[in-house]
Amino acid sequence: MYLTHLHCPRCDTTYDADRPQNLCSCGSPLLARYDLAEVRKAVDPTALGGRAADLWRYRELLPVAEDRHVTTFGEGWTPMLPAARYGGSIGVPGLLVKDEGLVPTGSFKARGAAVGVSRARELGIRHVAMPTNGNAGAAWATYAARAGLRATIAMPLGAPTITRRECVAAGAELHLIDGLISDAGRHVGKLIAASAGSPDGEIFDVSTLKEPYRLEGKKTMGYEIVEQLGWQVPDVIVYPTGGGVGLIGIHKALHEMRELGWIGDTLPRLVAVQSTGCAPIVRAFGAGATRAEPWADAWTVAYGINVPAPLGDELILDALRDTAGTAVAVDDEAILADLHDFGAREGLLLCPEGAACLTAVRQLRAGGWIRADERVVVLNTGAGLKYPETVDVDSLPVAG
Ligand SMILES: *Cc1c(COP(=O)(O)O)cnc(C)c1O
Ligand SMILES: [Zn+2]
Repeated sequence: MYLTHLHCPRCDTTYDADRPQNLCSCGSPLLARYDLAEVRKAVDPTALGGRAADLWRYRELLPVAEDRHVTTFGEGWTPMLPAARYGGSIGVPGLLVKDEGLVPTGSFKARGAAVGVSRARELGIRHVAMPTNGNAGAAWATYAARAGLRATIAMPLGAPTITRRECVAAGAELHLIDGLISDAGRHVGKLIAASAGSPDGEIFDVSTLKEPYRLEGKKTMGYEIVEQLGWQVPDVIVYPTGGGVGLIGIHKALHEMRELGWIGDTLPRLVAVQSTGCAPIVRAFGAGATRAEPWADAWTVAYGINVPAPLGDELILDALRDTAGTAVAVDDEAILADLHDFGAREGLLLCPEGAACLTAVRQLRAGGWIRADERVVVLNTGAGLKYPETVDVDSLPVAG
């Protein structure tokens, strides 16, 4: 294993990676660091083509020492679908959609769960808990069951009901919360505090960015995008941003690949897409701030990005500025219109979070921020099948 230590990007403190760790004492998330000089010697990126078509092909850049701890359902290596018909209609013929709907549990959250659960198991953790807007809880419950860990999941009542069913089916302890993900987070905080020293065993907090390894799973999207383009970076990567783990992870992967000499100096411009109903990052980016203020009365149909106070705000804003990227808010009506338009032109039912990215691309192209000849990658972060309410069939006439 090439993992060397954990590092705080805010205050530069380092931590031992061989023990369970949550946040830095300064409150910042911790990042996993590797001996990239040694990885560079050991791995020829063009030889990765012969490896299994899942995210474990980047094994040297992942934080799991022993194969027996790898917990997998075959996640990763999702298709990058050219979408020239829809793309052409909005003036971006080089549009590509990376379809994370094909990942086990129907969302890219499984990437984070696969790596996070594998490492938790390796570090001897027996019981994990987290607040979730649905998909993360479903993924962690599923992978925890496969690893033989207990999982406690706290989920707002408004989260997609399919994700509740996934948690229950995987044997997790599901707590339904009358509130937002931030309320679910406070609930989990109390459970964890109460578990300290309990004979029932301590509970480990795996909330978004409160442990460092979920991010490592999600960063593999960045490696895959570049490898699937023949080790070329696209011009723009567009990401629906809730907690921002995928965006921070892709940014981290790009920096690692640059240090490994696998890509050149120019990084793709990263775009954070949010809903006008919950846009703390867009507001902070526009104001030139380094931190985001909590968003009041958050609501959007794109439930996965309904995160009023993301813990990784600094890292998200840094990723956008470092790559000359931007942040865009789009409204629910436009999201659903683009979801339907894309389905009719390309045949893939997107999740609303993925459709939000198309709305953003359309608006950025109209405003000239994206040029006609640019290669733009949109992440469709989940399966449209998990969101049946986005397609209305109740008003259809019935014959016979
Ligand atoms: C969680 C989620 C997001 C947001 O991901 P973050 O990494 O938290 O920003 C986007 N889309 C879907 C479908 C999700 O489940
Ligand atoms: Zn710190």
